[in-house]
Amino acid sequence: MSTDHANLICRDRAHLWHPYSSMVNAPPVFPVVSASGVRLRLADGTELIDGMASWWCAIHGYNHPALNRAITDQLESMAHVMFGGLTHEPAVRLAEKLVAITPESLETVFFSDSGSVSVEVAIKMAIQYQQARGFPARQKLLTIRGGYHGDTFGAMAVCDPVTGMHTLFNKVLAPHYFAERPNTRFGGEWDERDVAPLRELMERHRDEIAAVILEPIVQGAGGMWFYHPTYLRRARESCDEHDALLIADEIATGFGRSGRLFACEHAGIAPDILCLGKALTGGCMTLAATLATRTVAETISAEGGGAFMHGPTFMANPLACSVALASIELLLSSDWRGRVEAIERQLRHELEPCRALPQVADVRVLGAIGVVELKAPVDMHVVPGEFVRRGVWVRPFGKLIYVMPPYIIDSDDLSRVTGAIVEVIQSIRQDRRVG
Ligand code: PMP
Repeated sequence: MSTDHANLICRDRAHLWHPYSSMVNAPPVFPVVSASGVRLRLADGTELIDGMASWWCAIHGYNHPALNRAITDQLESMAHVMFGGLTHEPAVRLAEKLVAITPESLETVFFSDSGSVSVEVAIKMAIQYQQARGFPARQKLLTIRGGYHGDTFGAMAVCDPVTGMHTLFNKVLAPHYFAERPNTRFGGEWDERDVAPLRELMERHRDEIAAVILEPIVQGAGGMWFYHPTYLRRARESCDEHDALLIADEIATGFGRSGRLFACEHAGIAPDILCLGKALTGGCMTLAATLATRTVAETISAEGGGAFMHGPTFMANPLACSVALASIELLLSSDWRGRVEAIERQLRHELEPCRALPQVADVRVLGAIGVVELKAPVDMHVVPGEFVRRGVWVRPFGKLIYVMPPYIIDSDDLSRVTGAIVEVIQSIRQDRRVG
């Protein structure tokens, strides 16, 4: 290991928190000096093939010239300006683009700086909407177990109560309603009983429920579970029947990841509110958007002062809006659908053999997402290093080893990623949680 490499790790250890990590006895971190295409280069010269797209974001890979240019061009006119009382071309153009590519009924856009905040915004919109309609008691959310919507308090309150750390913060978190996670798999045979818990809760608490919030089709960080599109259709029907809004959190699934531009398309439904983030900027800058129907926006705006009560400092940051526009244009002008289908085929083919391994409980693939669920949680002190040793970047969590590579990954590189997954799983001893 070079001194630079070791030195950086040491200085990092002294001061830095990493996501979901302890400051004491923290699992290893690997210093990155640059990234290009699907490769991350570490300070010791090691090159890693990226299987994570930086947590769903870097759909075009890293250091893409068109995305870099969008940022540097915008930098020449202004890096940032407040959005209170001012507007600018990048925000207007991006809003127009988002309205054009999402379901027709979504016509208004609220920009914020991260996925979690876009969920907070969606929840506040739903509550203000119900208040404006004369239903101030409708302040609860209905959601499904196994969900993940972010780490801020409003978002955390609708995450799965167990994996979402509810006991740790139980005096602060707003209590909401949780239906059982849908059991019917994507691609499996629909079972009407699956939606009964959601329907029952909706009927029982109809006077309290402002909205249903869920991740369409793909439950991400709450368990990487792909459920049946009919569940989503039934959730839409239930919302309509009881005048609740439907909030679709497409922060992870948006921009092609599930094989459709937006995962709601698998079910042919449109939400009333849609949250986008992550791949919105091609992974270059932090930006999120909450889209809402004209009805939601006008109802909120007609009540009292008519103001929607949120306004982040970095709302609609021009650099982020510019690179988001460039990323969407790049995506739409590419054969992203063909790429995602090819990745899906290859992941199915190359991850399927994992099913025969004694360590493995399940294998699931949808679009450019491949998941191997193990029978026991992996040891994060060991397993990420095992992937690095094999020249790939895969970061498991809990019992899940999963990949969602940049769409530009070629089949040789993807084979190296899946090959490493098979090898690393084989190296995991079954009698204890080690790699
Ligand atoms: N919703 C979903 C579905 C997500 O996957 C995430 C991030 N993993 C979030 C919300 C929160 O986004 P952020 O981390 O940008 O706050």
